Amino acid sequence: PDIERLGVHESVELVFPPSELAEYLSELPVDVAVVGDDGIDSCDAVVTLEHRDAFLELEWVHSIQAGVDRFPFEEFEERGVLLTNSTGIHDRWVGETVAGYLLAFARRLHRHVANQQDRQWEQPEWDDGFTLPGTTACVVGTGTLGSGVAEVLGSLGVRITGVRRSGDPAEGFEAVYASEDLNEAVADADFVIVTLPLTEETRHLFDADVFAAMRDDAYFVNVGRGPVVDEDALIDALEADALAGAALDVFETEPLPEESPLWGLEEVIVTPHCAAFTEDYHRAVGDLVRENVERFADGEAATNRVA
Ligand code: NAD
Repeated sequence: PDIERLGVHESVELVFPPSELAEYLSELPVDVAVVGDDGIDSCDAVVTLEHRDAFLELEWVHSIQAGVDRFPFEEFEERGVLLTNSTGIHDRWVGETVAGYLLAFARRLHRHVANQQDRQWEQPEWDDGFTLPGTTACVVGTGTLGSGVAEVLGSLGVRITGVRRSGDPAEGFEAVYASEDLNEAVADADFVIVTLPLTEETRHLFDADVFAAMRDDAYFVNVGRGPVVDEDALIDALEADALAGAALDVFETEPLPEESPLWGLEEVIVTPHCAAFTEDYHRAVGDLVRENVERFADGEAATNRVA
C-alpha cells in the first residue's frame, strides 16, 4: 500500500491515549493524526481497536490487539484491504499478570484484599496456602501469550505443559499435547491457562467435559477470549466445587454484567480485560506500525498480516 495519511482511530483510547501513539509516530515520513469516525475517509490507513465499515475503503488497517475477532476477515479479503495485528508484544505483560493470579491463589492474597475491604482481620487456615514450585500449569495455546506465560511461570518453578494443534514440541514447554488430547492434557494440571484466540474451532472449546476432566483442586485461568469458554459450564463447575477457582480477564459478555455470579465467588478473580495493559503498550504498537510503514516504502510484504 501507498500510505500518505495514517489515522490513529479514537477507539484506541479504551487501551491508551491515541495522542500518545500519534506523537510516538510523528517522525514517520507519513502524516499521522488522531481521527474520529468522521475523519476516516481522510486517511489511507488506520491504527484502531474497534472495527468500522468505513475502514473497508482504506488500504491498510492495523489492530492494536492480537485478537482480530472484531474484524470481518472475508470483507477485508474481498476488498483487498490489508489487515495486520499486534501479536508478538503481549508475552511478558500477560505472563506477569498470570503469575500474579497464581501467586494470589497460592499465597491467598485475593482473600486478604477482599477482607481488607471489610476491615476484617481474618487469618486463613494454616494449610490453605501452598507454593508454586512443583505445581504444573497446562498452557493451552503455545503462541506469543502462551510462550510468555510459560517463561514467567517457569521462572517461578512451575512445571509447564502445553496444548497446540500439532502436538509438536515447543520451547519452554516440558510436554506438549495435541488439541485432540485436551482432556488428557488438563487432567493432572494444578492450573489450566487459556491463551487461545477466538476462532470457529475454539468457540466453547472449554465446556463441561473439559471442566470434568480437570482435577477438582485445579484453578482455571482465561486470558485469551471469553467465548472460548462456555461460561455457564464454568460457573456450574465452580459452584459445585468441581474446580478450586478461576482467574478471568475475558468474558462472553464484556463488560461482565453486574448480575454475573462470577463477581461473587470467593475463589474467582475478575480482571476487566486488562491483562496486557502496560505503560509501554503504545510504544510496542508504534514499533510494529513503523516497521510496516518502512517495509511498504521498501516494497516488502507486511509483518503480522492476518488478511
Ligand atoms: P498468537 O497468534 O501468537 O498465538 C495464538 C496461538 O494459538 C497460535 O500458536 C495458534 O497456533 C494457536 N491456536 C489457534 N487455534 C488453536 C486451536 N484450535 N488449538 C490449539 N491452538 C490454537 O497470538 P497471541 O499474541 O498469543 O494472542 C492469542 C490470543 O490471546 C489473541 O488472539 C487474543 O484473543 C488474546 N489476547 C488477550 C489479551 C488480553 O488482554 N487478555 C492480550 C493479548 C491477546
